[in-house]
Amino acid sequence: MAESTELRAGATKKTTFCRICEPLCGTIATVEDGRLVKLRPDTQHPLSSGFACQKGIAFTEVVNDPDRVTVPLRRTAAGFEKVTWDQAMADISTRLSAIVGQYGSGSVGWYFGNPGAFSYAHVLSVLAFIKGLGRRSHFFTASSQDISSRLMASQLLYGTPTSVPIPDLKRTDLLVVMGANPVVSHGSLLTAPRIRDRMHDIVKRGGRVVVIDPRRSEKAAQFEWLGIVPDTDSQLLLSLLQVMFAEGLADADQIDLHAEGLDWLRLLVAPFTPDATSAHTGIEPEVVRELARDLAATPRAAIYGRLGTCVGRYGTLTSYLIDVVNLVAGNLDRPGGSVFVGFGLPGQRWVNFAVGAVLRWSYRRRRSRIGGIGSVIGAEPAALMAKEILAPGDRQIRALFISAGNPVLSVPNGEELEPALESLQLSVALDFYRTETTSHCDYILPVTTMYERDDFPLAFQAFQATPFRQATEAVVAPAGQSRQEWEIIAELIRRVSGSAPLFAALSRSHRVLKLLGVHFTPRMLADGLIRLTAGGDLFGLRRGGLTFDRLTGSSPHGKVIEPHLRTGVLKESIAYLRGRIQLEHSDIAAQIALLSGPGHPADYALRMVGMRDSRSENSWLHNSPLLMRGDRGQHALINVDDAAELHVSDGEEVAVSSPYGRIRLPVRVTKDVMTGVIAVPHGWGHKGTGGWRVANQAGGANVNQLTSSDPGDIEAVSGMAWLTGVPVRIEAL
Ligand code: SF4
Repeated sequence: MAESTELRAGATKKTTFCRICEPLCGTIATVEDGRLVKLRPDTQHPLSSGFACQKGIAFTEVVNDPDRVTVPLRRTAAGFEKVTWDQAMADISTRLSAIVGQYGSGSVGWYFGNPGAFSYAHVLSVLAFIKGLGRRSHFFTASSQDISSRLMASQLLYGTPTSVPIPDLKRTDLLVVMGANPVVSHGSLLTAPRIRDRMHDIVKRGGRVVVIDPRRSEKAAQFEWLGIVPDTDSQLLLSLLQVMFAEGLADADQIDLHAEGLDWLRLLVAPFTPDATSAHTGIEPEVVRELARDLAATPRAAIYGRLGTCVGRYGTLTSYLIDVVNLVAGNLDRPGGSVFVGFGLPGQRWVNFAVGAVLRWSYRRRRSRIGGIGSVIGAEPAALMAKEILAPGDRQIRALFISAGNPVLSVPNGEELEPALESLQLSVALDFYRTETTSHCDYILPVTTMYERDDFPLAFQAFQATPFRQATEAVVAPAGQSRQEWEIIAELIRRVSGSAPLFAALSRSHRVLKLLGVHFTPRMLADGLIRLTAGGDLFGLRRGGLTFDRLTGSSPHGKVIEPHLRTGVLKESIAYLRGRIQLEHSDIAAQIALLSGPGHPADYALRMVGMRDSRSENSWLHNSPLLMRGDRGQHALINVDDAAELHVSDGEEVAVSSPYGRIRLPVRVTKDVMTGVIAVPHGWGHKGTGGWRVANQAGGANVNQLTSSDPGDIEAVSGMAWLTGVPVRIEAL
C-alpha cells in the first residue's frame, strides 16, 4: 500500500506522484473518508524535493469534478443516457464483432491520447487489443502531433525509434535548447523534476544556456536568447555542421569509429554556409560560427530540441541534425553531452536489435491507406484519421475507439473530424469527460483518474535525467462506476474473442491461469520490467533489488538508481547489426532538397508558432476552476512592429487566416516574439458541445483549424502534422 500517516479518524496522507506531465513530481495526497481532498508537493521526493506546479495541486478538482462522467453513457437522439456496464459492453461487443466479421480488422481503429502514456496498463492493454485484432487494424496516437519525427530520426540514425538521447543536465556546461520551453512544459522526452533549477544550476557553475526560439519565452527570458525564423532550425543546424567541417572542428577519426556515411554528410552540408542560411534563419553568420566553435570546444555541451523542432515541415531532418551536431561536436554519449538512458536490461543490445528490427519492418510494411505514410512505432498519422474514416474502400474505418484523447481539438483540421465521427457505425470513448470529441461518440465509458489506479511510469523510464524508479498504489477508489482502461479492454477482448485468433488464445490462457489460481494483470508485466532492469531484484538473484511491491511499500518516495546517467553505451543503444550510427539516408537527402523548394504564399506574410501556457495541459485541464481563475483565456502574441503596421492594438480581437482555415482570437502585443511571427496557444476551442461547463465558458479558438490535414502537407517520412511555421495573415476586425 502507499505510505500512510494517520491524521485523524477517516483521514490519511498517502505518498504518490503526479502524472500530468513528464517530471512526475512527488505528491502527498490527503484522503478523508475515501475522498481526495488535498494534494501537496512531496518534500521527501529525492528529485522534485517539495516542488509541484499549480496543475499538480489543482488536480483534486479533476478527481472530484461534478462534470466528470462516472457512469457508462449511451448517445441517443435526445442526448446521452445512463446505461449499465453490461448493457454497454454487450452492445459494443455485438456491434464490433459484426463489423469485424463483415469488413475485417482493417475496419477498426483506435486513437490513443497523450495522457494515456502515463498509465502502463493503459498502454499495454490498448496495444494488446488493437494489434491483437489483426495486422490491418488502424492505430493512431498523439505522437504524430508531438514526437513521431524525433522517433523517426532515431530509427534512421540508430536503427530503433526507442533510442532517444537526452541532455545530461546535471553535468553539462553548455545547453542549447531549440523549440522547447521547459520552464512551462517542465521538460518533454526528458524527465527532470525542477528542470528550471537544473538549468539555472548550469549557469551557477559557470556554464551557459542558450535558447533558440522565435519567441522569447518564459525560459528564454531567463537565459541567452537567439531569435530564429519559425521552421528554419534545420538550416541553422546544417550551417553548424558546415562550420565544424570547414574549420576542422570535427574529430573525423572518432566519428568514423562510431558512424558510417560521414563523407556523404560532409558533401551534403557543404552548401549551407552561415552566409547562405542567414537570410532564412535571421541569425547573423558570425553568431552561427561562434556557436559551432563553442559546441565543439566545450567538453560538456549538448543541443536539446523538442516540440518546435518536431512539428515543422522538416521535423525528421531537424531531429536528425540535432543528434548529428552532437555527434560531430564530440558530445554524443559523453558525460555532460547528449546521452542515452536505456533500461539497463541484461542483453540490452540484443533487445534493442530485436525491437529495432521489428519496428523498422513495421514501418516499411504498415503504410497508411491514405497517403501511403509509414507507421512510426506502429502508429499512423492522426492528421489522416478523418480521411481514413470517410474515404470508401478496403480498410475504411467503421468502428473507432478513442481513449484519453480529444482529437477534435488536437489534430489538424478538427472540424473535418466531427462529421467523420458521426458517420461511424460504432464509436466508443474511454474518458472521464464529455469533450468536443467524446460528445460525438455512441458510448462514453467512464475511466479512472491517475489517483484512482496503481502506476509505474513505464513509458518515461528511457528519459530519466537521473536514473530513478517510483511506483504507486491507487490513493482513492474509482469514482462512481469508473474502471481502468485495461479492465474495460480485457472484458472487450473476452466478449469478442471470436473476432481474432489472439483474443481467443488470450481468453483461453486467462481461463487456464484462473483455474491455477493466477489472476493475470498488466501489473505483472510492469513488475517484471522493474525486476529485470537496473536496480531490480532480477527475480531474487539481486538481494534487496526493486520490485513493484517494494517500490510502493518500502520506497514510496521513489528510489534513485544511480547518481548519473551512464555513458559509453552508444553501441548497446544502436539496433543496427554493425553497431554503428547510419548517417546516409535518402529520406534525409530528400528533406534537404525540399529546403530549396517554393516559399510560402505571398499573401500570408506571417508565420504561426505554438505556445504553452503554465495552467493548461493541451485541452484537458480547462475545467478546473482553480486553473481558470482570473483573466484566463486564450490569446495570441504578436510583435509591436507588426501590430503597428496592421493597426492592431493590445487585447483586440483579430481574424487569423491560413490557406486552410480561419479563426478569431484576441492578441497581446509584445516585444517577446520576432517580427513576422504570431504565437498561438493550442488546446482551446471548447464550444459547448462538451459537458465540461467551465471549459465551455472559456471557449477560445481551435488553432488547428489553421493547419492542414492534406496528405501532401504531412511530413512524409514520419507522418508528423505540420503545426509550426504555418503561413498566416492577420486582419483587424
Ligand atoms: S510539473 Fe507536471 S508532474 Fe509536476 S506537478 Fe506540475 S503537472 Fe504534475
